[in-house]
Amino acid sequence: MIWGQSLLKRALEKNEKPADRTIRNAERDMIALGIAAAAIILFVGTGGSLMPQIARAWFWGGEAPDLVLVNAVLLNIALLLFGWRRYRDLHDEVQVRRLAETRARELAERDPLTGCLNRRSGPPAMETLRRSLEGTHREMAVMMIDLDNFKQINDLNGHQMGDTVLTAIAGRIAECLPEEGILARIGGDEFACAVPYDYNMREDVDDLVAIIIRAVSAPVESNRMTVEATVSIGLAQTAADNKQNPVVDAEALIHRADIAMYHAKKRGRNRYYWFEPQMEDELRFRNELEAGIRQGIPAGEFVPYYEQQIDLETGKLSGFEMLARWNSPRYGVVSPEIFIPIAEEIDLIGQLSEGLIRQALEDAKEWDPDLTLSVNISPVQLRDPWFAQKLLHLLVESGFPAARLEIEITESCLHENIGAVRSIVSSLKNQGIRISLDDFGTGYSSLSQLRTLPFDRLKIDRSFVADLTADGEGRSLVEAIISLGKGLSLPVTAEGIETDEALAHLKSMGDLKGQGYLYGKPEDAATTRSRLASLNMLAKPLAELPPDPRQPSEAQRQAG
Ligand code: C2E
Ligand code: MG
Ligand code: MG
Repeated sequence: MIWGQSLLKRALEKNEKPADRTIRNAERDMIALGIAAAAIILFVGTGGSLMPQIARAWFWGGEAPDLVLVNAVLLNIALLLFGWRRYRDLHDEVQVRRLAETRARELAERDPLTGCLNRRSGPPAMETLRRSLEGTHREMAVMMIDLDNFKQINDLNGHQMGDTVLTAIAGRIAECLPEEGILARIGGDEFACAVPYDYNMREDVDDLVAIIIRAVSAPVESNRMTVEATVSIGLAQTAADNKQNPVVDAEALIHRADIAMYHAKKRGRNRYYWFEPQMEDELRFRNELEAGIRQGIPAGEFVPYYEQQIDLETGKLSGFEMLARWNSPRYGVVSPEIFIPIAEEIDLIGQLSEGLIRQALEDAKEWDPDLTLSVNISPVQLRDPWFAQKLLHLLVESGFPAARLEIEITESCLHENIGAVRSIVSSLKNQGIRISLDDFGTGYSSLSQLRTLPFDRLKIDRSFVADLTADGEGRSLVEAIISLGKGLSLPVTAEGIETDEALAHLKSMGDLKGQGYLYGKPEDAATTRSRLASLNMLAKPLAELPPDPRQPSEAQRQAG
């Protein structure tokens, strides 16, 4: 696995630390070498004439050499041996230290799971590559690659499988990269790549991205489990950016690619985008919204609005759907379609929704006891194993009857973790809460899911109702959904009724409930209360209620 090895080496050499220099100097220890060299020269000089004399005296009884000179030669030999030993020891020690140093550096510079460069070493290696391309006909593109739904892969299949997926995907990306390409793991499920490409051949990078997306999407198998992952990719390049902003180092490119990657996520994942400057503004706006949401929740800026739900046959009001609104001091009244996805992403949806439901239960306690309250629940909340308990706690806290509460979940909940959803739905149903499948027809629920999950109602998405004409395709679709509901014994609500014509069509199709602007737009708690007051549909104060036949009257109690 090369993955930018040579570039990393060059980048690291530039940042060589004093400790590295010490090892390098020790390896060439001049003193030890000097001692050994001096001992050799001395030995050649004196030993050359003295050794034959010693040999003659020893073997043939010749004249004994000068004792001082003999001692000098012996000392010389000892020095030679010492010098050589010292040099060897030093050399071995340096090798050991060098290995330890390399290992420590690898640990510091490489991601231990995937073997890629890490957050610390990746950007300098990319910067070195970028500089090496300056003044050539080549440019550098940086890619930020983020796995879609990695958290779910981990949650559903365990962290070991999560690690296997990351390793497999890192390997596949590395295989797609050209030789000089650099791959770094920048975060948990986030990789950054840098690749050079020929000036004016940006489509080469597009082709490479397509190859990576295809390679990554192949299933990963391990321990008889199969997981499929997709990626969102953001791209930034030195070429176009140079015209806009001359200072584009690798860190800046990574930042821009990250913004483009985020854009790809927002546009539905499993796709890629090149960075464009307006994406930065969008992100800034989104971050401002995020900060606003964080502050707005404790400040009580999120309030419930209520939309009437009508029995189409009788025209009678049967209940309300609670729809969240953000009364933002900065942006005015903000739609849930804007703030719910952000609250989901920043993990505040549970807190936000609980606050809204608490307020809605208090409001609904004032309504006629025959009126129901529907609340929308995000798929993210259904991942919380304590969700059912939290909801029941809210009911107990407010004293609102469970039988008057209906929760609406969308089809996207069903392809998350059907087992967990089923257990939450069952425990809610056991408490008497009813469950509706919202926006039906826009997702991918299968017939078997519809049959096995104990839903109480289907809500036809408003896009189908909007297409309703006397004999068009829209009518056939709505009829098909209604007959599916009949087949599964599920009552049906039609959303988004805006015209008398649509209402007439729906009435002719069966016994339905409905809601839509024809009956009125969602209104805040006070307006809803006034509406109910004018319809004489507010809960009666206790004093006005007829006596409960099961309870003894005051007179009976006094008599008894
Ligand atoms: P939904 O649950 O399908 O709610 C119906 C949406 O359709 C509401 O939009 C409502 O104002 C709108 N609508 C109703 N009648 C008509 C009509 O005749 N014509 C048109 N064009 N639209 C109509 P809203 O309030 O903007 O809510 C949008 C979505 O936001 C909701 O869709 C729901 O999925 C989500 N949402 C709202 N409040 C909450 C909440 O407290 N929690 C969660 N998780 N999601 C919420
Ligand atoms: Mg709804
Ligand atoms: Mg809906």
